[in-house]
Amino acid sequence: MPLQMVRNDITRMQVDAIVNAANPTLLGGGGVDGAIHRAAGPGLLAECRTLGGCRTGEAKLTGGYNLPCRYVIHTVGPIWRGGQQGERAALTACYRNSLQLAVEQDCETVAFPLISAGVYGYPKAEALQVAVETIEEFLQQQELTVYLVLFDRTVYTISEQLHREIAAFIDDRYVEAHTDSRAEQSRRIAIQQSCPEVFAAPMPAAAPSAPAVDPDLLQAVRQMDESFSQMLLRKIDESGMTDAQCYKRANISRKLFSKIRSDLHYRPSKPTVLAFAIALRLPMDQTRELLCKAGFALSHSSKFDIIVEYFISHGNYDICQVNEALFAFDQSLLGG
Ligand code: ADP
Repeated sequence: MPLQMVRNDITRMQVDAIVNAANPTLLGGGGVDGAIHRAAGPGLLAECRTLGGCRTGEAKLTGGYNLPCRYVIHTVGPIWRGGQQGERAALTACYRNSLQLAVEQDCETVAFPLISAGVYGYPKAEALQVAVETIEEFLQQQELTVYLVLFDRTVYTISEQLHREIAAFIDDRYVEAHTDSRAEQSRRIAIQQSCPEVFAAPMPAAAPSAPAVDPDLLQAVRQMDESFSQMLLRKIDESGMTDAQCYKRANISRKLFSKIRSDLHYRPSKPTVLAFAIALRLPMDQTRELLCKAGFALSHSSKFDIIVEYFISHGNYDICQVNEALFAFDQSLLGG
């Protein structure tokens, strides 16, 4: 999946390159910078001394030393001074320049911390928004997997209001799914008592020997419906999007998309199906149809399902916002 938000310590990320939120001296500091230098060992500082510092928004490369990554990309984020001093442009440049360096080194996987969102004071929600937008934009042009490593649970770009609305939506759906009022219970018991033979019936015994395949059954199997991948490709054509536009909007890698395209009977995961539903802006009924092709349904007993349903039913097909909300509610994210 091209962009993933994960909660982790960046020094543990097994990727080609991690990005360090450094200061202009590049000689180490607190926060994530300190953690990276501690984990990498003294070799990193020795190499940093040779680099002559780094200006805000720029990025420089070193080896990874004792870290599990090949490279560390050091970038210097802006100090927050109220938002009118070019902070956003500088922060955008940090992500772009770091990603560009990673691509030049043929990296396939890169992990970022939330640059400037610590002692440099950039408001976390806005820092996350800049990170997601800049990375997403870069990934429209380049094949790369980028991890945004978040340390802090309270990093939401979704507003308090949206958070409350989704929470209420989840509660309502949960209540519906778990309602088992006395009236319903007694109705069920009454039905069971009136038809004891149905409810007590044992499962039919297995046939002692395998029967010859019924030709009608064979015929029925041959007349199988359109598969998931067929339906997906048809819907992409109908949408007027190119394949690449669609899988990028779905936050799906080209590799996974090629697998789906080349295998008529590919069984995708539920987050993959929903990512395509969002990318294709499918309404609820068509989303259910696409899910059904892959053997899934939306359940009101699952927070993940309810959150995705919330966005689709509100006509909001911004996959970044859906993923931010899923992240805020501790659910797995949409995409490959
Ligand atoms: P800056 O000076 O750019 O603000 P900081 O290191 O103070 O840099 O903080 C940047 C972000 O990195 C903050 O959101 C902080 O919570 C996070 N952070 C701190 N340590 C780690 C770590 N080990 N792994 C990932 N993120 C971290």
